[in-house]
Amino acid sequence: MVISEFKNEPFVDFSMPENQERMKSALKKVKQELGKEYPLIIGGERVKTSEKFKSLNPSNPDEVIGILQQPADKEVTQAVEVAKDTFENWKHTSAKERAGYLFKAAKIMRDRKFELSAWLVYETGKTWPEADGDVAEAIDFMEFYAREALRYALHQPLTPFPGEINELRYIPLGVGVVIPPWNFPMAILVGMTSASFVTGNTVILKPSSDSPVIAHKFMEILDEAGLPSGVVNYLPGRGSVIGDGLVGNPHTRFISFTGSMEVGLHIVELASKAQPGQIWIKRVIAEMGGKDCTIVDSDTDLDSAADGVIAGAFGFQGQKCSACSRAIVVDSIYDEFVEMLKIRAQKLKVGMPTDPTNYMGPVINERAFKSILNYIEIGKQEGKLVCGGKALDRSGYFIEPTIIRDIASDARIAKEEIFGPVLAVIRAKDFEDALNIANSTIYGLTSSLYTRNRKYIERAKDVFHCGNLYFNRKCTGALVGVHPFGGFNMSGTDSKAGGKDYLLLFMQAKAISEKL
Ligand code: NAD
Repeated sequence: MVISEFKNEPFVDFSMPENQERMKSALKKVKQELGKEYPLIIGGERVKTSEKFKSLNPSNPDEVIGILQQPADKEVTQAVEVAKDTFENWKHTSAKERAGYLFKAAKIMRDRKFELSAWLVYETGKTWPEADGDVAEAIDFMEFYAREALRYALHQPLTPFPGEINELRYIPLGVGVVIPPWNFPMAILVGMTSASFVTGNTVILKPSSDSPVIAHKFMEILDEAGLPSGVVNYLPGRGSVIGDGLVGNPHTRFISFTGSMEVGLHIVELASKAQPGQIWIKRVIAEMGGKDCTIVDSDTDLDSAADGVIAGAFGFQGQKCSACSRAIVVDSIYDEFVEMLKIRAQKLKVGMPTDPTNYMGPVINERAFKSILNYIEIGKQEGKLVCGGKALDRSGYFIEPTIIRDIASDARIAKEEIFGPVLAVIRAKDFEDALNIANSTIYGLTSSLYTRNRKYIERAKDVFHCGNLYFNRKCTGALVGVHPFGGFNMSGTDSKAGGKDYLLLFMQAKAISEKL
C-alpha cells in the first residue's frame, strides 16, 4: 500500500445547504438513540456492573445521553490483567499491522463524521463547527500517528563501528492508562489512545465521566476496524473512584493524562511511588491547564486583534486549555480596544448548540457552572464588568460571554484557570510590561501577540515562555502536524501532541550490538 503524505482533514463547510441537511439529519438520528445503556469493554467482553451513572446533556440536564457502568476494584484488576496478557502478543505485531488499524478507523470516522459531531453536540454542548473540529482532529491524530509509527519502525541511523553490527529498535512500554478530559472528548481521547496502541502498548481507556458515550463510539469504531480484543479496554467512571487503582496498580507501565493541574499532579505523585511487585519506574505524560493570553500592541490591525481575542476567549464557551482568558493590552489603545471587544462580545448568540445560529452553547456541568459564576463574582470585585456576567434565565448551563476590565496582573482571575467564558482585560504600560505580565502565571501553554513590530516579534520568540506561541492570530486552533501542542511549567510535560517527537513518549529504545 502506498501511503500518501499526511494532510489535515478539511473542516465541514456548514454554509453549504447539503452539509446543513446532513448535520440536521444526524442530530435527528442521534436524538433517537439517546438514553441507551453502555457496558464496560474488557478484553472484548461486554461487562455490566451493579452501580451505574448517567451522562447528561449540559444544554438540558433532564436529558440522559447514556447510562454507564461504574467499575470498582474488581473490574480495574480484571482490565489490567487482560491488558497485561494481551500485551504479550500485541507487542510482537508489526508497526504495519498496527498502523493499518488506525488507517481503517480513520476512514470509518470520516464516513461517520456528522453522526459523531451530533453526539458531541448533545453530550458536551459543542456547536456544529466546534464538534466538527473535534472529529477532524481525531481523524488527523490517527492518520498522523499511523505514519509516525511506520517511520519509527524503519532502520534507525547509528555511528558505524568496525567489527560490529549495531541496531536500535523502538519497543513498547507495556500497559498504559489513558485518562483524557471531556473538553476534546473525541480528539484528545483518540490521540492519546492511538499513540499508545500504535506503538505496541495495550490500553485501559478511562474517559471522563462527562463524555463517556462519545468514548464508547470510538470503541465501536475500533471494533469495526478489526482491532483485536483486549488491546483497548473501556473503563468509564469517576476518576476519583477508579483513578488511583489504575495509576497505582503495579502492572501499569505508563499513564497518559490530559486534564487539570490538580489531578495531573496527584497522578504524578502517586505514579512516582513504586508499589510492591512493581519492576519499573512509571512514565507519566501529563498535559494540564492554562492561563493563556493575547498581548495586543498599538502597532497592529485592531479589528483583527479583537476578532482573535473574542474567538480565543469564547469559542466552546472558553472551555479550551488554549482559551484566551487574559487580554493584555498596551496603555495607548486600551480604552478603544476594550470597547471593540465589548461590541463583539455583545453580538455573540448563546443558546442551544443544536441551533447553528448560536455561537456559544452551555458549559459542561453544574459544578463548572457554579465555579464559573463564582469566578465572575470574584472578577467583579477585582475589576469592572464590561459585559455579560450572568447565567441565562433558562434550564441548562448557559453563561453569557463575560469581559472584566482593569484587572491587576496578580488578581485571582488573572492567575487561576476559570475554564469558562470569562475574559480578564489587563492594562500594560508598554510591550515589555505586557510580556512580564504574560509570563507571570504558573502556567505556560498558549499565547499570542498582535503586532507589526518585527523587534517585538523576535523578542517574544526569545522570552515569551509558553509551549505554543502565535503571532497575529488567535491562541486556539492548533492543527495536528502543523502546530505540535503542549505546554511548559504547570501546563504539563510539554509532550507536543501531533508532533514528530510524540510517539517516543510511548516507547523505549533498545540498542542491539553483535560482534562479527
Ligand atoms: P479533570 O482533571 O477534572 O479530569 C481529567 C480526567 O481525569 C478525567 O477523565 C477524570 O475522570 C480523571 N480523573 C479525575 N480524578 C482522577 C484521579 N484521582 N485519578 C485519575 N484520574 C482522575 O479535567 P477536566 O475537567 O476533564 O478537563 C479540563 C482540564 O483539562 C482543564 O484544566 C484544561 O486546561 C485541561 N486540558 C489540558 C489540555 C492540554 O493539552 N494541556 C487539553 C485539554 C484540557
